[in-house]
Amino acid sequence: MPTIHQKALDFVKANAEQGDIKAMLVAFDDYGTNHEFLMNVGPEKGPLLTGIVAQQPEGGRVLELGCFCGYSSILIGSALPPGATLTGIEIDADSVAVARQTVEYAGLSDRVEIIEGDSGKIIPTLRGPFDLVFLDHWKDLYKSDLMSMESNGLLRKDSTIFADNVGPFFNPEEYLDYVRTSGHYDTEYHKSHIEYTDREDGVEISVYQG
Ligand code: CA
Repeated sequence: MPTIHQKALDFVKANAEQGDIKAMLVAFDDYGTNHEFLMNVGPEKGPLLTGIVAQQPEGGRVLELGCFCGYSSILIGSALPPGATLTGIEIDADSVAVARQTVEYAGLSDRVEIIEGDSGKIIPTLRGPFDLVFLDHWKDLYKSDLMSMESNGLLRKDSTIFADNVGPFFNPEEYLDYVRTSGHYDTEYHKSHIEYTDREDGVEISVYQG
């Protein structure tokens, strides 16, 4: 039985030309809306994310935790400034396989790398700093992985942390308390909706102050 990830990617390949990232994202959104729910960042929160990606410096570095089928990897990849790169970390082997195919089909393999493994183990092995971090894996890991990035020197002053799914449904309270009260971040909640639904969700965008 193909996984939901593989079925979604097969649908994307059938409905979007190789290298046409915009059409690929539309096809993923179509699949998530009309076929099976996909936990993608989606078309409503997506432009907020790409707007921040586009503001990063030339040659900048973006880190993504939780790649699922590669939707946000190609969304971020498509908006990277010249010379900038994306490193994605994904623990689920099926997701890694599909995310890598998605990146390759999008023509972004030179800028986007997906690493398979446990974020808690991989973060200490990475070289810093990252200009932008997209948090979209297990909500229980947001806080511990962010603190690990701080202590391992992966953040610099003004590194931006974009945390998806922090609205009332998922409500990662410990994470929100930390970025809002630790004094290490300038932080702001942006109200939105859970992808492909009308239920409230939000993203927290936090700028590291050191
Ligand atoms: Ca998400």
